[in-house]
Amino acid sequence: MDEFTIKISIPTDDDGFVLLQCPKCGEYFKLPPNDIESDDVVDIYCPLCGLVSDTYITEDVIELAKAKALNKVLGDFYDEMKKLERKTRNSIIQVKANKPQKEEEIPIKSTIDSMEIVDFECCNRQGKIRHLLNYCGCYCPYCGGQKDGSK
Ligand SMILES: [Zn+2]
Ligand SMILES: [Zn+2]
Repeated sequence: MDEFTIKISIPTDDDGFVLLQCPKCGEYFKLPPNDIESDDVVDIYCPLCGLVSDTYITEDVIELAKAKALNKVLGDFYDEMKKLERKTRNSIIQVKANKPQKEEEIPIKSTIDSMEIVDFECCNRQGKIRHLLNYCGCYCPYCGGQKDGSK
């Protein structure tokens, strides 16, 4: 099969933050895309478990990518079968192409309830984390340093 690229744009919320999910503990948090892509941000630390992961893509994004990939493959397959159907129209062997059922492409959600913007003074950057995490204390997503809760 030929390689193909699927483009998925991850929406930002009203404050311009993009939703991330830690693959290790499943925690959701948000960071501004500019900070994620910034050259001096090497690693992103999960604010809950404090560990570094390679990717913080949310399940939504993975599911959407899978659905899009499947639809692309099924669509291509259908096109091929259609061609074959036309070619075999008057021959003994007949091919009938059935339109594939489309996988639902669920839009990515950018909002998770009760998150608040937190200033990580150690790195002079902002992040959005769950209220409870802010209350209890968390790790700075940019340097992994511990931040005291706002109790
Ligand atoms: Zn985590
Ligand atoms: Zn920091």
